Amino acid sequence: MKVHLINPSSVSFGTAVITPRWQYVLAAATPASFGDPLLVDETLSPLDPASIHAGDAVGIGIHTANALRGYEIGKLARERGAFVIFGGIHATLYPEEAIELGGAHSVVKGDGDVAWKRVLADCEKGTPLPLYAGGQIEASEFLPARWDLIPRNRYMWASVQTVRGCPKHCSFCSVWKTDGQRPRQRTADVVIEEIVQLRRLGFRFIALADDNFYPVTLTDLDLATKQKNEARLSELNALRAERFELMARLAQLPDDMVFFTQITMEAAEDTSFLDAMKAARIKGALVGVEAVTPAGLKDVYKDFNLAGDVLIERLKTFRRHGVHVLGSFIFGLPSDRPETFDATAAAAINAELTFAQFVTLSPYPGTVDFARWEKQLGDDPPKIAGVPLTRRWLIPQALRPKLYWDHPVMSAEEIRSRTQGVWDAFYSWGPIWRRSSFIKSSKGRLAFVLISRIYRQMYADTGIATDSARVTWSGRWTRIMAKPCRRLFAGKPMPNLKTPEHAGDFVRLGGWANASKVTAKDLGVCQ
Ligand code: SF4
Repeated sequence: MKVHLINPSSVSFGTAVITPRWQYVLAAATPASFGDPLLVDETLSPLDPASIHAGDAVGIGIHTANALRGYEIGKLARERGAFVIFGGIHATLYPEEAIELGGAHSVVKGDGDVAWKRVLADCEKGTPLPLYAGGQIEASEFLPARWDLIPRNRYMWASVQTVRGCPKHCSFCSVWKTDGQRPRQRTADVVIEEIVQLRRLGFRFIALADDNFYPVTLTDLDLATKQKNEARLSELNALRAERFELMARLAQLPDDMVFFTQITMEAAEDTSFLDAMKAARIKGALVGVEAVTPAGLKDVYKDFNLAGDVLIERLKTFRRHGVHVLGSFIFGLPSDRPETFDATAAAAINAELTFAQFVTLSPYPGTVDFARWEKQLGDDPPKIAGVPLTRRWLIPQALRPKLYWDHPVMSAEEIRSRTQGVWDAFYSWGPIWRRSSFIKSSKGRLAFVLISRIYRQMYADTGIATDSARVTWSGRWTRIMAKPCRRLFAGKPMPNLKTPEHAGDFVRLGGWANASKVTAKDLGVCQ
């Protein structure tokens, strides 16, 4: 029985930005008796159906955006006589759909790290179960990825996860429901081992693919202190100390390495944390700004973010402490007005964001927004090509609406075209060139310009453009540019690189203001 792990995509670029980590984790979960699994990432190149044979086990990981292509592959694999197993966020939320439409014999709900071995054993016996409850396993059970299987020269960035789960509850996000609100944080030891392995292979750029890299805020510490909850305080301090330990050890890695993560804006309250990030060469972070007005933040249950001038100041703090921000904004919120678009573009520029993304509000399954939207549409929702709108991911790509919500004052087309306008303004050549001025070398500036353009083509033109010529041109352009761009990211392999020493002493002896073990009071946030 051969094992296949397939990452579905209806567009292939030949080169991809980030590795689909789940494939390499499930490869690690595959017992050696089955041999190395065959990994197919369709963002690189499409699946060759002839590679699947009767009796093979085919694992397909899906999120909402690639579910339809995933179901095509599932049906095809089943027709060829293979056992078909679905996993991933979307399959966790809609297991019955993968069975009905994707030819699944089985669905794994939740984390696959532990459950996968059992699924394969059952397939081998010819008796796979319809459902496996992977659940939310503890961080100590997360498996390190099998990076020895990664194809050379295809990916710009590798991805390593340090924490799953997020304590927040934003209305448009499903992470806190699917991954849980309790941060499940891996120890620095195991994370560093994976990163060292990747650098040995020649990866210099690593995405720390976390839900939220700043799982303990000063407010959390403040609250635990005020409640005199010693147990909670000590738990929070331990999590925080582990973060600093990790960053201290990242700082000991070769200085050509660059890390990128995802973090909440609250991290800027804690400049010792930002300084540790800088020293660790975590040079960039995706920050969900979402909206620049208090009303917009309320719309998405993200009132813990700031608005107006304080927002600009908070975002600038990241930059002042050496962390570049990819700001993420949402358009189409009920409180948005035509002037919101220009105000958002201006805020993105004034806040000195290095990159920005502008998405339109879409109801994602598993979110509070989705539940509200589904309820609003009632028992008989409108249909497109016979598919109810509330199962929008099953509508053929070409027929899918660009927006799903009626807006109180703007048409869907107005929101779409104004959003496109903001992308165009932020990523035109002049502003990109000006933003690149912080880079000294001309090679570095060139890399920045190329990456900015590729980023915009991959995410703006292929996502929200309605003009099919523009979409096709963007895909072609990205395919051509991605290859030379990847070379700019690659490093010379360092097969003999040693794992950095434990950094406990460094942190204890005063690294970043003894920041590993503090109370909120120590940091001056409570009296
Ligand atoms: S959007 Fe970010 S902060 Fe909000 S719940 Fe999701 S991961 Fe957490």
